[in-house]
Amino acid sequence: MKKGILAVISGFSGAGKGTIMKELIKRYDYFLSVSATTRRPRDGEVDGKDYYFHTKEEFQQMIDRGELVEWAEYVGNFYGTPKKRVEEQLNQGRDVLLEIEMQGGMLVKQQFPDSLLIFISPPSAEVLKERLAGRGTESPEEIERRLQRAAEEVKYMKDYDYIIVNDDLEDAINKVNDLIRYDHYKACNSAHLIKKMEQEISTFAARKGE
Ligand code: ADP
Ligand code: 5GP
Repeated sequence: MKKGILAVISGFSGAGKGTIMKELIKRYDYFLSVSATTRRPRDGEVDGKDYYFHTKEEFQQMIDRGELVEWAEYVGNFYGTPKKRVEEQLNQGRDVLLEIEMQGGMLVKQQFPDSLLIFISPPSAEVLKERLAGRGTESPEEIERRLQRAAEEVKYMKDYDYIIVNDDLEDAINKVNDLIRYDHYKACNSAHLIKKMEQEISTFAARKGE
């Protein structure tokens, strides 16, 4: 059966993941999974669109009921991927994007070995700091915590299938889109073509000696 591919997109806070994801779903027919979180909404964030905002108790219940593909703690809050929609969309053949941090990324790879892991990197640490501050959504203390977390996250870069540098935004969007398209082609079309040729070519063997 034709299934969509599961693409995990990770990167340090401020690298530009959210910006790239927004453009990808605007331009193409990808399904971007909406995560559950216990963090408070930022100005302008909408429940059910940007995140499903929950209390810690509600989040714990989702874990207990097995409703999350993966979850992780990130600078004092919990974040997790709801299972139902992701499975539905993959089964319908739609490519699904998960914009999640790296511990979650590793858990997804364990459960879905065929998933595609893409790491979005800033061109430099200095640029990362500037972007995080320039976004203006976190306090200086929160920015500091996120930069500390980035220092711990560097070790995961090597575990990703591809690292895309987000310097020129348009270039980064196109590269991420290309990687997903190629992986979709590899996963779906190759399997289909192999099956088709196996069936067709086997008729030659069956006709041997005719
Ligand atoms: P993340 O989701 O990885 O935490 P964001 O997408 O929120 O990061 O981006 C952080 C900030 O950097 C935002 O203000 C965004 O507009 C800006 N930004 C993203 N990509 C680029 C880029 N290629 N060049 C310059 N600024 C960028
Ligand atoms: P933010 O608070 O900036 O929206 O997100 C903080 C971090 O949590 C980012 O690295 C983001 O990718 C990650 N994140 C968002 N949703 C999920 C999720 O469902 N699971 C995991 N593991 N991380 C997530």
